[in-house]
Amino acid sequence: MGRFTLPRDLYYGKDALSNLKNLEGKKAIIVTGGSSMRRGGFLAKTEEYLKEAGMEVKIFEGVEPDPSVETVMKGAEVMREFEPDWIVAIGGGSPIDAAKAMWAFYEYPDTTFETLCTPFSFPKLRQKAKFAAIPSTSGTATEVTAFSVITDYAKGVKYPLADFEITPDIAIVDPALVTTLPPKQVAYTGMDALTHAIEAYVSTLNSPFTDPLAIKAIEMVFDYLPQSYTGDMDAREQMHYAQCLAGQAFSNALLGIVHSMAHKTGAAFSTGHIPHGCANAIYLPYVIKYNSHEPEALRRYADIARRVGLGGTSENSQVNALIAKIDEFNAKLNIPKTLKDFGIDEAEFKEKIANIAELAIGDACTGSNPRAITPEQMEKLFVCTYYGTEVDF
Ligand code: FE
Repeated sequence: MGRFTLPRDLYYGKDALSNLKNLEGKKAIIVTGGSSMRRGGFLAKTEEYLKEAGMEVKIFEGVEPDPSVETVMKGAEVMREFEPDWIVAIGGGSPIDAAKAMWAFYEYPDTTFETLCTPFSFPKLRQKAKFAAIPSTSGTATEVTAFSVITDYAKGVKYPLADFEITPDIAIVDPALVTTLPPKQVAYTGMDALTHAIEAYVSTLNSPFTDPLAIKAIEMVFDYLPQSYTGDMDAREQMHYAQCLAGQAFSNALLGIVHSMAHKTGAAFSTGHIPHGCANAIYLPYVIKYNSHEPEALRRYADIARRVGLGGTSENSQVNALIAKIDEFNAKLNIPKTLKDFGIDEAEFKEKIANIAELAIGDACTGSNPRAITPEQMEKLFVCTYYGTEVDF
């Protein structure tokens, strides 16, 4: 038996934000991050529209990147005092993720992260509030997904929360919010979106409901990401929709080991953080090669290649064309081809990689990867991504 869940309403296009004035309720809390939404005037607009809807409005500002347990608890407490019937999260992935977790602790003050991080075991939400999400970046698609990641810095662990209960009720995908994204972020988040769509398409949980969303997202990323990167705002708008389609696909079909590898290497090396989308972009071509040794995955990657009009007469040559296309994209977007080129120190890589490979195997995204993988194979795969060597196993 399968399940396919998306937000009840999705508003998109010019002035999509103004749909907030049609929400029905008494009180709304706005959850947001640093100051970019305030600077851009979007916070004031959000507040204005909610007031137009006749609601009393409170703002919870300052959610940090990679939001912490403390921030979630603080937000939940503010919510318990204020008693909103709408939670409106606006900003990048972090404030929206944080607000999702605040929502759970607002409605269930006695629950714990340990309980919540068992996948698909959430208590029923919407007893007190509904949830609207408004993204200001084009990649995580948390506005339409069942996921949130919260970090416990004291314990040094990340809690991946996954449950359709935290799929927002409303997503507002307004292109005005992404016009000022820096090119680097456009590149990384765009490749994150491409990875979401490709991993969802080949996932063991793919379905006729997620396939069209994934394929359309892949087509759109190939059509629009380079121009969005160089500042074309029409292309930027299309990328904002493409990442949202990819999110709808992977929220229901889940992901694969590109994400497992990115999750476990993001903060692993002393030379600095590897941004999530950049890590995905580096690993994606190698993982396609690895997975395509599994016949069903080979067939589905070849399917993608044909759907986006790439050449090749056999499934193998079509998959190679897809890999070449991704390599070409990475080059165009100034994304390095290997971890070595990214600047990871060789000695540190060698010292840590066996352990990282083990951790990647245990990541929540490994289970839906189309080809099984052992810790030894994972380590070999990482070595290929370090030196840029052929994946021939
Ligand atoms: Fe991602």
